[in-house]
Amino acid sequence: MALSLKKHEMPVQDPKVRAHNFSEVALGYDEETAVAEAERCLHCKVPQCRKGCPVSIDIPTFIAKIKERDFDGAIATIKESNALPAICGRVCPQENQCEKHCILAKRGEAVAIGRLERFAADRQLAGEEDIQPVSRAADAQKVAIIGAGPSGLSCAGDLAKKGYDVTIFEALHKAGGVLSYGIPEFRLPKDTVVKKEIENIQKLGVKIEVDSVIGRLYTVDELMQEEGFDAVFIGTGAGLPRFQGIPGENFNGVYSANEFLTRCNLMKAYKFPEYATPIRVGKRVAVVGGGNVAMDAARTALRLGAEKVTIVYRRSAAEIPARAEEVGHAREEGIEFQLLTNPVEVLGDENGWVKGLKCIRMELGEPDASGRRRPLPVEGSEFELPMDTVIIAIGTGPNPIIAHTTKGLETTKRGNIMADEETGMTSKEGVFAGGDIVTGAATVILAMGAGRKAAAAIDAYLKSKRS
Ligand SMILES: Cc1cc2nc3c(=O)[nH]c(=O)nc-3n(C[C@H](O)[C@H](O)[C@H](O)COP(=O)(O)OP(=O)(O)OC[C@H]3O[C@@H](n4cnc5c(N)ncnc54)[C@H](O)[C@@H]3O)c2cc1C
Ligand code: SF4
Repeated sequence: MALSLKKHEMPVQDPKVRAHNFSEVALGYDEETAVAEAERCLHCKVPQCRKGCPVSIDIPTFIAKIKERDFDGAIATIKESNALPAICGRVCPQENQCEKHCILAKRGEAVAIGRLERFAADRQLAGEEDIQPVSRAADAQKVAIIGAGPSGLSCAGDLAKKGYDVTIFEALHKAGGVLSYGIPEFRLPKDTVVKKEIENIQKLGVKIEVDSVIGRLYTVDELMQEEGFDAVFIGTGAGLPRFQGIPGENFNGVYSANEFLTRCNLMKAYKFPEYATPIRVGKRVAVVGGGNVAMDAARTALRLGAEKVTIVYRRSAAEIPARAEEVGHAREEGIEFQLLTNPVEVLGDENGWVKGLKCIRMELGEPDASGRRRPLPVEGSEFELPMDTVIIAIGTGPNPIIAHTTKGLETTKRGNIMADEETGMTSKEGVFAGGDIVTGAATVILAMGAGRKAAAAIDAYLKSKRS
């Protein structure tokens, strides 16, 4: 049979229907489609796909196992390198990673590696997985993990497997980090995926203390000197919203994307009044920015009942940083795009509520430090868009509280914690860090990989303390 140069389609909810509900958009492969997709893999002698995976999953092997219908073997292979496969199969930017390097991408469409990873992981999550806590010595060394995002969770899981006594301290009332408060339900279901992955980590013996802000409840020094922790991993993420600093950002109806998404995802504002947190979107919503966060905020606003949602992005379609699939889904759902456009002022009414967004057209100049062409304002091109809500999604900075309360912890000019790329070791003995707090806002897989590397280094550090 001739090799198909196209991926098997992923079934999705109809755009007209899904624009009004919070259920998952992409529905996943069934067994037959997964096996048929796995059969597209050429099992290359020098598989390029693996080089594109930030945690080097043995992709050809897991795909071969799906082809042979050895689904347990497939997920076991993935889990050797990836602690959160049902999550990564959904949210990794595969088009820039494994699938970009797949040999088939040169001739047609790459093997749908992400969809196959999701298939194998979901199949396991749907069943009863037998996870047993690793036996722990009564005097096991104690490790504190600060932050229950992907970096902290994966670091904790690996350390628990090695027999350490691990406690995660999480500031919010729920674990998961961005997986719980940022990425919406329609892209990453909370009960069937995120909660189960977290429970699997707890089954290994990891304790999670929620509502525990480190830097307030205890400092890092207190954890080590008074609470008996032998090592600390900091995975506190990049949750501090940035604003443009333009006039009018204080009007009612201006949200940071973080606040908007947290209200909706974590506080379940979309179920108001069943849940106590309200959210107001009005009829017309502008979302400023072009990343995954902007797409998530725009599609959430649509589902909350906005009639018209507009992405305002200062570069062109070619530079949009969000995943291609998310941009495609947003367009299908009717999100409008004002490209090469930058806000210069939020306009308000006499009661202090947003009534519009004043923007200026942009053109692209020479590439800047990021390699992307620099957007430049076109003089005299200002115009106004009537709006009820403006959501700012132009990036986030590091959460500062740990750096401010921990002596001897070096940070960069931007406030990110300085840590060794391979070990996560910081300038303070026994303290390790990884994920967005070190790199700045990045991806789930990179945060998870950093957590795992730090776990290996913490293990080596604690063993050296024992001897
Ligand atoms: C809306 C949105 C959409 C995204 N979409 C994608 C995507 O599609 N694909 C992708 O790969 N990546 C995506 N990302 C990025 C990805 O989610 C992050 O890179 C990743 O979650 C970083 O993991 P982390 O563990 O470093 O931090 P986080 O996930 O931010 O977790 C940090 C945790 O630390 C806690 N914390 C902070 N300070 C303290 C303290 N002092 N004490 C105790 N706890 C503390 C926080 O409450 C949080 O739970 C998205 C991000 C956002 C915001
Ligand atoms: S590069 Fe593509 S075709 Fe080759 S082994 Fe990897 S997934 Fe299969």
